Amino acid sequence: MTALPELSIVAPCYNEAAGLAGFVLRMAAAAEAAVGAGFYELILVDDGSRDPTWSVIQGLSVDNPAIVGVRLSRNHGHQLAVTAGLSLVRGARVLIIDADLQDPPELVGPMIEKLDQGFDVVFGRRRTRAGESAFKLATAGLFYRTLSALADSEIPLDTGDFRLMSRRIVDRLNAMPERDRFIRGMVAWLGGRQTEILYDRDARATGETHYTLRRMLRLATDGLTSFSTAPLRLATALAGLGVAAAAGLLVYVLIGFLTGHATPGWTSLALIVVFFSTAQLICLAIFGEYLGRTYMQAKGRPLYLIDEIRAARPREDD
Ligand code: UDP
Ligand code: MG
Repeated sequence: MTALPELSIVAPCYNEAAGLAGFVLRMAAAAEAAVGAGFYELILVDDGSRDPTWSVIQGLSVDNPAIVGVRLSRNHGHQLAVTAGLSLVRGARVLIIDADLQDPPELVGPMIEKLDQGFDVVFGRRRTRAGESAFKLATAGLFYRTLSALADSEIPLDTGDFRLMSRRIVDRLNAMPERDRFIRGMVAWLGGRQTEILYDRDARATGETHYTLRRMLRLATDGLTSFSTAPLRLATALAGLGVAAAAGLLVYVLIGFLTGHATPGWTSLALIVVFFSTAQLICLAIFGEYLGRTYMQAKGRPLYLIDEIRAARPREDD
């Protein structure tokens, strides 16, 4: 194959040896049906698996020249495994999909159809999720709703990283240097024309989830802190409350002092406590505001992205 692929598929794999052959079979069939054999590449990223995932990948790539195996030095986590895969894609369209068959590979056809209508991103949105614990469903639901309330950009509800993206979006994503990567949020932040396809999420074909409670919390923290400085601003809200409470208390304390109802020493003590705690909160709030701005600046994101310029005459620098 000399021409660039029509479709690049990125699938992160962590301890997926048991189910990988089944995934590749279905994924390859779906990709062939959509763009034709020889016009897609399937990038399998082994994220430091402890089982024979890597040798399975090597074996599979002997039979299917579309497979590109990538082996990370250790377990870097789902988001970074996807990031590594994305840095290697060459195709005009890029699909991110889990290797555990929870995301149906057959959706790639309809996704391509939609993308080619002029969209930059077609993300899969979960209508139902089979085989997930009630706890996971509840925490995921809560997380997505909190995030969309706090985040500065509109992050779609109930979507994972299962999505098809245009080359342009992937290039822009790859150019974002931030270290804590919450890919679905970054794609939302990039904007452009985005749309969804509803699907029913299956249970895992084999094995079990690698998202333990700790990892889910980590991802949730990454999501929240990457797209919102609201937590840092908490001090600002508290300082506001503190000032209001201090003003009320001040009046109360002074009235007590003037009418002679206060125990000696209470007035000065209360005033000192109120003054210093409010002053501290205000200072924290100021820190929070500056820190939030420094943090966002440190991410080095582009300030804006221009999709198109229309002008009657060509611009000078064209
Ligand atoms: N995965 C990975 N590195 C990890 C954890 C998971 O590459 O450290 C892969 C995993 O093999 C799967 C995808 O990321 O293809 C989603 O992980 P998982 O199924 O455990 O998450 P869940 O679907 O339960 O949210
Ligand atoms: Mg899964």
